[in-house]
Amino acid sequence: MDNEGVFYRQLPKVELHAHLNGSVSSQTIEKLIRQKPHLDIDHSTTAIGKGQQRTLDECFEVFKVIHKLVDTEEDVLMVTTDVIKEFAADGVKYLELRSTPREVKDTGLTKKSYIETVIKAIQQCKNEGVDIDVRFLVAIDRRNGTEVAMETVKLAEEFMLSSDGLVVGLDLSGDPSVGHGKDLLPALQRAKNCGLKLSLHLSEVPSQLEESDLLLNLPPDRIGHGTFFHPEVGGSQSLVDKVVKNNIPLELCLTSNVKGQTVPCYVKHHFKYWYQLGHPSVICTDDKGVFSTDLSQEYQLAASTFGLSRKDVWKLSQQAIDCIFAPEDVKQQLKQKWNDLHTQVFK
Ligand code: 5GP
Repeated sequence: MDNEGVFYRQLPKVELHAHLNGSVSSQTIEKLIRQKPHLDIDHSTTAIGKGQQRTLDECFEVFKVIHKLVDTEEDVLMVTTDVIKEFAADGVKYLELRSTPREVKDTGLTKKSYIETVIKAIQQCKNEGVDIDVRFLVAIDRRNGTEVAMETVKLAEEFMLSSDGLVVGLDLSGDPSVGHGKDLLPALQRAKNCGLKLSLHLSEVPSQLEESDLLLNLPPDRIGHGTFFHPEVGGSQSLVDKVVKNNIPLELCLTSNVKGQTVPCYVKHHFKYWYQLGHPSVICTDDKGVFSTDLSQEYQLAASTFGLSRKDVWKLSQQAIDCIFAPEDVKQQLKQKWNDLHTQVFK
């Protein structure tokens, strides 16, 4: 690894937008494929390599293939453990993983055991002393409609109360071209009222201004992507104003957006717009496995594309601490950790 690479790896980082099954590495996929030869899955269908692109629809097909491979409690335990250790090895000190609880009748996996298993993996990593604080957001797949959304919120609520602070919030994700946010509003409102933090994928594709406007009224605690909020890309000043007024941090995923073709190229990524505004913008991976990246690479990419100095990059990673969903004492511990590591990173 060259000098630059070492800096970005050593930089302590916060990852706030990581979908569990999208984060499964090529090595873990290899293990799963070996365990399930009968599925006859070709490794090239589970990741989008360097220089390759797919439409967003094609990206959602990739998740379906990974879901076939991850269909038992043992699989969920293995992928969660591997993903956590990989983020830790990449210098991530605080991670919020998110995942959609899934039921698989054939294997006995239930939504509840799915969440329990993710929590078990987080606790196991903690007990092993892996140097990373991990929290969990339960995800709603918008494709599944009102009832499932409400059921998911109830599950999340239950685990928020019983997981010793590990379940901190709720994510709204899934294919943005399916369904409408207004149908999910009661579930999201309930989640908010019971103390779950909300991170919502908003305006990931064009023509969702009405939905974004509606959901911004909640308001969410963070926004995933927000690619089409600003007027230059067909959004509106009033959406931008709402985001700014409520100081809602954005989770921004450069490689994911370019490979998924919602952003034409890196220099046109909306990171520039929000960063120039001085708005809280957190660099994230989205799906490090599917998009063949890691958080160090994402920071390096943002720096080289937008001309950020090492000092700017440090500030960016440090400011992400204020956007986490874990409570204030965790923020203070992380800030202390950043202070302790500063000399080593800039030596
Ligand atoms: P899982 O929830 O199974 O752990 O992770 C995969 C799921 O995350 C996908 O099926 C999809 O619902 C969601 N997801 C992953 N990446 C994206 C993305 O870029 N946009 C949206 N809207 N959803 C995503």
